[in-house]
Amino acid sequence: MIERTLTIIKPDSVEKKNVGAIIAHLESEGFEILAARMTRLSEAQARAFYEVHKERPFYNDLVAYMTSGPVWPMCLQREDAIGYLRKVMGATNPAEAEPGTIRALYGESIERNAIHGSDSPENAAGEIAFFFPTADLA
Ligand code: ATP
Ligand code: MG
Repeated sequence: MIERTLTIIKPDSVEKKNVGAIIAHLESEGFEILAARMTRLSEAQARAFYEVHKERPFYNDLVAYMTSGPVWPMCLQREDAIGYLRKVMGATNPAEAEPGTIRALYGESIERNAIHGSDSPENAAGEIAFFFPTADLA
């Protein structure tokens, strides 16, 4: 099934100038970019985006990291986009990610792990709407 998902190229990737390589990697895996922009998350936006993790010990650090520099949210489309993006990203901890995955290639730690990907159809829909009004999608 053709699906849409939401990715965010995270601040560590922007800092290290890996944005172009990550977009090229996603395009080479068949993802079509329906919307993209560069932005800087406010603390309120980062808290809201990662609200599911608010009880976790790493929540405050995660919010600080995600607001530490610009990010690139993008809406991607592909066959099985949600599951396939998770596969192409690799495990949360880059040290455990399959060789060749984006996190293995560009991530540096369990927190600074290069990229975000939606984890379910419900969250994908909510996260796409969080960043892009429907009218902005190609
Ligand atoms: P994402 O939601 O960003 O795609 P994920 O679904 O692989 O990543 P989650 O469990 O949803 O992982 O965690 C969200 C983010 O919180 C991770 O990507 C990482 O940046 C950070 N994080 C997760 N676990 C830890 C941890 N144990 N210590 C520090 N940061 C963590
Ligand atoms: Mg997640």
